[in-house]
Amino acid sequence: MRCPFCGNVDTQVKDSRPAEDHVSIRRRRFCPACGGRFTTYERVQLRDLVVVKTSGKREDFDRTKLERSIRIAMQKRPIDPERIDQMISGIVRRLESLGDTDISSKVIGEIVMESLARIDTVAYVRFASVYKNFQAADDFDRFVSELRPGSLTEE
Ligand SMILES: [Zn+2]
Repeated sequence: MRCPFCGNVDTQVKDSRPAEDHVSIRRRRFCPACGGRFTTYERVQLRDLVVVKTSGKREDFDRTKLERSIRIAMQKRPIDPERIDQMISGIVRRLESLGDTDISSKVIGEIVMESLARIDTVAYVRFASVYKNFQAADDFDRFVSELRPGSLTEE
């Protein structure tokens, strides 16, 4: 695993243990090159999901991107981070259990909105307002950048 601080690829695992949700393993890592410490999570991936965009373009599903957009929508909301983690795991499990490895970006957006609506109305509105303006829902990076904290309306 590459060190996020200095880019050294030769990092060491100091400690491994199940994370609280028991669906992931938490590893504490140490970089001997710069002394940096960081944590990684290892999860079971039931299948390799592919996101099919409205343009027809295909892209490997990336949990990190999904997580980023949800965390931005959840920013400064009084929600336990562990609960957010559980929600994200729940969304991924739902995607994995759809029975198809190809999933349209639209379906993903709808499942995310549904989950957010159940947990926090403000986060739901933030996510949905960006998502709905973002008609093509095509470029997830652009979507996430539009969802940046500065672009959010203060409640
Ligand atoms: Zn390093």
